[in-house]
Parts: sequence; structure tokens; C-alpha cells
Amino acid sequence: MTIDPNAKMEETQEGTEVYSFDPLIVKSHYEIDYIHSYAQDSEFFRALGKKKLLGSKCKKCGYVFATPRAHCMECGAETTWYELPLEGRIHSYTTCYFGSEEFLPQTPFNLVLVEFDGVDSLFLGRLIGASQEDMYIGMPVRAKFRRNLKISPTDVYFVPMPGSDKKPGKKTAPKRRRK
Ligand SMILES: [Zn+2]
Repeated sequence: MTIDPNAKMEETQEGTEVYSFDPLIVKSHYEIDYIHSYAQDSEFFRALGKKKLLGSKCKKCGYVFATPRAHCMECGAETTWYELPLEGRIHSYTTCYFGSEEFLPQTPFNLVLVEFDGVDSLFLGRLIGASQEDMYIGMPVRAKFRRNLKISPTDVYFVPMPGSDKKPGKKTAPKRRRK
């Protein structure tokens, strides 16, 4: 056993960035690689690379979801993949001025809920090529896909259809198919 009353922690040359003294606020680096499995949604993301949008259709009651769902929210039965049309209409829309760390540098951006013929639920995506003032309920939009896939939900986005820049007078949104 070696007793050393003069033992000292090793000193290093690195300092700590101090942002504020009172309260004391310091900078520390934090980083993480996240290995993420798309699991049962994998086919949806693979289809984006083939410029296809996949929803799901209930094998029992026929309800069509605009998003991947292994089981029906209406009756609980298993679903099968269902190819969505690439053209739809704006059901509702918003402009985001704030977002998570990943999306914050891209603000402001437009998010739209898109309705498709023959589909019972809605699809959330980004709309580009139209400003906030240009968007309206019922506006025809078309899905587009990134050529260089990121394998992320932002691989698909929407643009206005040609000639969709005229706001309809008092027309309400077209009715969605009801089950
Ligand atoms: Zn069902």
C-alpha cells in the first residue's frame, strides 16, 4: 500500500466555455448516433425510392389509410399495402416558424395534410413551391420524391399542380369518401 497525501488529479490544457457566470452556464458537447429500425414500415420507405406512396388497406373492412399501419384502427384486422395516388388536395395546412433541431434551419416551411380520392385518412407532408398566402383548402397538389434518398419521411414532398394558383370563391373542400 502506498500512502501519498500529495496525490493530485491530472491537469489538462482544455478549458470549459463559460456562457454566463450567474447562473453559471457552461458548454458541454453531446452527440449520439441513433440506429433506427423502420421495422414493419420498411416497405413504405423502400417504395419512396421507386417514387411510390404506400398506404394500407384493411383486409376485413376495406378502410384505406394514407399511412403505413399494420392493423386497422377501425376493426383491428390486418392490413395490406395500398398504393396511393400521387395527386391529391390540401385538406388543411400550416406554416411552421419553429421546429426541432433538424428542421429549425429550414423554417419557415409549409406543412399540409393531403387527402386522396378513395383514401379514408390523410397524409402529412411538406409543401414547397407555394407561399403561405397561396395555399387553400382543396388546392390540388402532387407528390414529388427526392432523387437522392435520405430514407426519411422528407423523401416525399408536395408541389402545387399547374393552374392551382386560383383560389376558389366560396367553394368548400371536396368531400372525402366516407366508409
Ligand atoms: Zn378494418
